[in-house]
Amino acid sequence: MDTEAIVIRIKTPSGDMDSSVDCPSLLNFNDLLVAIRDVMPEATVTAFEYEDEVGDRITVRSDEELKAMLSYYCNTMNEQRMNGLLPDPLQIFPRAGKTPGNRNIHGLKVNTRPNPANDCTHAVPDSIANNSLKKSSAELKRILTNGQINAQDIHYQEQLGHGNGGTVYKAYHVLGKRVLAVKVIPLDITVELQKQIMSELEILYKCDSPYIITFFSAFFVENRISICTEFMDGGSLDVYKRIPEHVLGRIAVAVVKGLTYLWSLKILHRDVKPSNMLVNTRGQVKLCDFGVSTQLVNSIAKTYVGTNAYMAPERISGEQYGIHADVWSVGISFMECFPCSGLISYLLSKLVCSTSQDPPVLHIGQFSEKFVHFITQCMRRHPKERPAPNNLMDHSFIVQYNDGNAEVVSMWVCRCLEERRAQQAQGPI
Ligand code: ATP
Ligand code: MG
Repeated sequence: MDTEAIVIRIKTPSGDMDSSVDCPSLLNFNDLLVAIRDVMPEATVTAFEYEDEVGDRITVRSDEELKAMLSYYCNTMNEQRMNGLLPDPLQIFPRAGKTPGNRNIHGLKVNTRPNPANDCTHAVPDSIANNSLKKSSAELKRILTNGQINAQDIHYQEQLGHGNGGTVYKAYHVLGKRVLAVKVIPLDITVELQKQIMSELEILYKCDSPYIITFFSAFFVENRISICTEFMDGGSLDVYKRIPEHVLGRIAVAVVKGLTYLWSLKILHRDVKPSNMLVNTRGQVKLCDFGVSTQLVNSIAKTYVGTNAYMAPERISGEQYGIHADVWSVGISFMECFPCSGLISYLLSKLVCSTSQDPPVLHIGQFSEKFVHFITQCMRRHPKERPAPNNLMDHSFIVQYNDGNAEVVSMWVCRCLEERRAQQAQGPI
């Protein structure tokens, strides 16, 4: 059976609860039952069902039946993928029995820990954490039924930046007592499309990686959508000049890990570029603005002007594209760190797109051969010749800097921010 992550959607009378399971082969029937009982404490659930390809319900009451269900689901998932579709979650329908039965016969312990997302100490069951049902179902229930953030609880502070789609603000969430980044995008669309976007964005609740920006909530007010995420106090990479290689190496490792995580969820980033790579003074590097909502991307595209300089040639020419297009964008994003970068990367990208040649190998004194090789490989004209996800992690440039040393990035971000503050204090000459 496949060992890749899957999403299980528990269908309950009060709504759907999604949980991501990193390693389905480790999941057992009893763990899943405990998870279901956590989200339906009022019912006595003894089994659950899933639907086969013709819509017949099949009951699962044991580990063997669970295995059969997972293997059926993995086949369906593979088929959907071969047809170019993102796999649907595995839907299960809890079945309530008449008697309480023997609950938790394997004596699994339920730990509780404070919920970091808000002040109240919400009991979060941890019993299934080892089997990687990552976000606890109680937490998911709270998120899905009510979203965590309401417009009236947000106090907007300064504007952080403005992109093609909308404007990003630093803001304070009064109830959660935390600083947020809120991206506000004006969208003149129907209520139906708004609903579709909200449902497409639900996958963001499941993203749980140190290399991906944490998503808190999204909501529409009139014709604007607000997307609330974690605030990164170092901002985006595009405003940093001349990043030294030992820093850039650690940043590249985080970017590759973030993308590998998204790809494992079958999400293409589609907009890898320095302004979508964020850093903070703790030395963390996280990706943001990946295109999970087709409808949102399409709606923004209607007002989008200009071309995206980081797009892979196959995308620009309207061919089919996949993970390798993200890999291209990684290469060209890091090429920006060369001196005179903007111009060089722009010209190279034009050259590659128009001639169907690979870009020439650049040897620029201050960067190592490994780094130059990494970029050149990512920017191969033909998508299949670019490194595949596993090969990216194994590239010698990435291996060299994959040492978990966040201190390097942290010190560099702090120093750059200090320099920026000092310059601002001096004012214009
Ligand atoms: P585009 O619209 O083409 O994607 P962009 O990425 O520059 O361009 P936005 O996504 O609107 O535009 O972001 C604007 C700026 O806001 C970014 O360049 C970044 O500096 C800042 N920003 C975005 N998200 C955050 C965040 N979570 N924390 C801190 N700063 C952020
Ligand atoms: Mg952005």
